[in-house]
Amino acid sequence: MSGAERLARSAELQARAARVIPGGVSSPVRAYGSVGGTPRFFVSGRGATVTDADGNDYVDLVASWGPALLGHAHPAVVEAVQEAAARGLGFGASVPEEAELAEEIIRRVPEVERLRLVSTGTEATMTAIRLARGATGRPLIVKFAGHYHGHSDGLLAEAGSGLATLAMPGSAGVTAETAAQTLVLPYNDRAALAAAFAEHGERIAAVIAEAAAANMGVLPPATGFTEFLLDTAHRHGALVILDEVLTGFRAGPSGYWGIEQARVPSGERPDLFTFGKVVGGGLPLAALGGRAELMELLAPLGPVYQAGTLSGNPLAVAAGLTTLRHADVAAYRALGRAADAVAAEVTAALEAAGVPHRVQRAGTLFSVLFGAFEEAPLDYATVQMQRTDQHRAFFHAMLEGGINLPPSAFEAWFVTAAHDDAALERIAAALPAAAGAAAR
Ligand code: PLP
Repeated sequence: MSGAERLARSAELQARAARVIPGGVSSPVRAYGSVGGTPRFFVSGRGATVTDADGNDYVDLVASWGPALLGHAHPAVVEAVQEAAARGLGFGASVPEEAELAEEIIRRVPEVERLRLVSTGTEATMTAIRLARGATGRPLIVKFAGHYHGHSDGLLAEAGSGLATLAMPGSAGVTAETAAQTLVLPYNDRAALAAAFAEHGERIAAVIAEAAAANMGVLPPATGFTEFLLDTAHRHGALVILDEVLTGFRAGPSGYWGIEQARVPSGERPDLFTFGKVVGGGLPLAALGGRAELMELLAPLGPVYQAGTLSGNPLAVAAGLTTLRHADVAAYRALGRAADAVAAEVTAALEAAGVPHRVQRAGTLFSVLFGAFEEAPLDYATVQMQRTDQHRAFFHAMLEGGINLPPSAFEAWFVTAAHDDAALERIAAALPAAAGAAAR
């Protein structure tokens, strides 16, 4: 069968969708804009494998962009959602399991004393920022170039993820007044941070940072940077929001903060955390949490408003709670083993084909940067110099070989606890041809 025949149904579905949905997609990167070709429509997934509308199956390294920590359609998660659905899809009132989910998250990240459930990571970071402004009475926010915190107006400047993929510096529709409330700094740059605080310190409400950047490829904080950030912000009376939407309960059992805190001997702690993806187990759920006295500024206890018709939805809570309860030592061992194996195989294949690259790691998260980088990159400007043309060739050859990678050079690769030997062998088998394609 020719390539076009093998993708006929996906092509048809994309053409139909594009007539009624902008770009045919509900989120931009899905349109394959930076890699070209036919975006795959998936109809099912199980464990480490996904199947497209034409019946082709792939070992998946997207994992729903993170949530599928245990693999697709994990039987316990599906059963919990079915059982919750049979009892009712939502009541617009509290359900008992919300507190259980909050307790599970607090157990893993003790700095979080109170937690509020929302539906998307965007809402979590947007609310955390409103809360930081409400708590401090200050207007400005500091973010880092290449970090992505969702698509609220104030956080889109020089953001990673889809904006990096599409090389968009920001978004039309954000007013100059709103943009001016966000100071964008180069990541891992202590001098820039110190200068921003020296100039605007009394007006900065919060610094928001991904716990380890993972939306410009994976780019962990340089040794001491998170500590410097915490110390500097706190010295000036500003809060620190650590965004663990992507890294939370994926990079490790307590998120990336669970790894990084050993490198913060000063004992300074982030004030607020945001979570998403894994905490919803594949359904729309996210959260923000932090110290009690800050979180209790949220309505109905305090003056900072936040609400959601579907917040704490029982199906999403069931999926998230069941996922976290199954994310045990064995699951993280399987994730780590899969990440180690794929990272090593990628390195071996690209080295054999003579393709300069770096594999970037943050716990069980990793990504591959194409290009000759002598040292680990520290900021967005450096990763923007990567060879996206090589990524594109590699991506398509991997798809041909039955491996579904993120359709972007700026996204992390996601393994699951279900990536067993058979899945890892299929990845290893596809790599030499993909490395060869990148070399051409
Ligand atoms: N924060 C980070 C670090 C993310 O990676 C993302 C999404 O990828 C978000 C926030 C936004 O989450 P959502 O897409 O659920 O709105």
